[in-house]
Amino acid sequence: MPYWKSKHKLGTGTVGLDIGPSTISVVSIDNKTAELHQFCTELEDRQKDIRRLQRKQDRQRRANNPDNFDQKGRVKARSERKAWKKSARQKATQEKIAELKRREAAYRKSLHGALVNHILSLGNQINLEKLSYRSFQRMYGKSVGFRAPGMFVELLRRKAASAAAEVNEFPTWSTRLSSICHSCGTVEKKPLSVRWHECECGVVAQRDLYSAFLACCVEGDRLVAGQAVEAWPAMDALLRAAASEPKVATGRRKPESFGGRGPRSQSHSSANTECKQLRPLSQDRGEVA
Ligand SMILES: [Zn+2]
Repeated sequence: MPYWKSKHKLGTGTVGLDIGPSTISVVSIDNKTAELHQFCTELEDRQKDIRRLQRKQDRQRRANNPDNFDQKGRVKARSERKAWKKSARQKATQEKIAELKRREAAYRKSLHGALVNHILSLGNQINLEKLSYRSFQRMYGKSVGFRAPGMFVELLRRKAASAAAEVNEFPTWSTRLSSICHSCGTVEKKPLSVRWHECECGVVAQRDLYSAFLACCVEGDRLVAGQAVEAWPAMDALLRAAASEPKVATGRRKPESFGGRGPRSQSHSSANTECKQLRPLSQDRGEVA
């Protein structure tokens, strides 16, 4: 099955990605591009419909099987339960949910596909950190299943392979993109709640976009800091613009993780205090990268 149709244009140059549980940053130094996207914003309304029907199904299940729940509304132990009964109406609700989920999955796939095509139109060398999508799942649960970042990366790999583009998934430990500053070389581990990279040397950037920028400068499994230093003056403004105009469908609220309140140094006098917090890896459960 062809994943890549010739009508799609394959770009030239390197694209750096930073993938979070619900968002993706796309930066290309070669194409002077910086974008911040939320995965599957368009699916949110459908998700609401599904949740509403699931609640309805739950009410029907309780009404049809009053003896299978205790006084607190919990399902009784298997040994105390009777066989589950399903009314025709409950079955109809179940069917509706299944149909909506099928449609949601198809729509999600097409949204992911369009985003992958867009990324490949920007370049034929795609760099991103190799992330543990299992740990995403553990930490963020529902949102990950709904926005499916792991599925996105899988689709990216397949489409890139059939378009003869390279995908470099480099290890987090060797590049440390979420904690390093390209300009002064400082390495500071930031908790995930800190959405901006603000270094004393003067480099300020939205965290995810900055990681994607640095990903452009990775060769093999190493960050080539010299490339970042050279490219930064031209990219700085682009990254700022992308942070203030994330690609969210109209009428949607910007997700908190985009760092919408801006860098701390603009709103508070005590910049950098959170950046300074160094925490041992084992305790740092909020940190993915
Ligand atoms: Zn610095």
